[in-house]
Amino acid sequence: MADTTKELEELGRQVAACQRCRLGQMRTKAVPGYGPATSQIMFIGEAPGFHEDRQGLPFVGAAGKFLDELLASIELKREDVFIANVIKCRPPGNRDPKPDEIAACRPYLDKQIELIRPRIIITLGRFSMARYFPGASISRVHGRPKRSGGVIYYPMFHPAAALHQPRWRPLIEEDMKRVPKLLTELEGVEADLPEIEETYEQLSLL
Ligand code: URA
Repeated sequence: MADTTKELEELGRQVAACQRCRLGQMRTKAVPGYGPATSQIMFIGEAPGFHEDRQGLPFVGAAGKFLDELLASIELKREDVFIANVIKCRPPGNRDPKPDEIAACRPYLDKQIELIRPRIIITLGRFSMARYFPGASISRVHGRPKRSGGVIYYPMFHPAAALHQPRWRPLIEEDMKRVPKLLTELEGVEADLPEIEETYEQLSLL
C-alpha cells in the first residue's frame, strides 16, 4: 500500500480518537473522510449529520444521495474523488459548527489536503468556502473557480440546499457540470483563471 494511503489511514485513526473539542464526547463515530489518496478532486463539506455519525462515512444521507447524482452527471463515482468535511464529528442537532470546533479540526483537514494534493478543491456550502473565500457570499461566488498555487478552488452550494429549496437544484447541477472542463484546462496549459488573492480584494468591495 502506498505511503500516502497509509498516512491517510493513520490520520483517520487519530481523528477517530480525537478529543480536541467538545464534539469528541458527543459523537457515535468520527467521520475523517473517504476516497483514494490519489484523488484529483477533493470535496469539502461542512460536518457529519445523523447518518454520517452512525456510519463513520461522509455524505451518506439525503444530501449524499444528491451528491452521488451530481457526480454521476459528470461520470464520476464517489470512489473517484476524496470527500471530507470541515469538521469531523457531528454537532448536536446538526447545528452549525462553532469557530473553536473548526479551529480544533483544521489541522486534520490541512493534513488531508497536504497528503492528497488535489488539483481541484470543491467547497460545498459556506463553511468550507470560508477557508478559501473569506468574507465572500456564496450566492455571488458559487460556480466561479479561482486558482492559487496550481490548485483550482471551486465554490458550490451545499447539496442540502437543493433539498430545502428545490429551485436551487438546477443551479447546483449546472455548477457541477463545469467541473470536467476545469480538469481539462488544468491538464493543458495553466488554467487562465484569476488568482485567489485578487478575488478577496474584489469581493471585499462588493
Ligand atoms: N453534510 C455535510 O456537510 N457533510 C456530510 O458528511 C453530510 C452532510
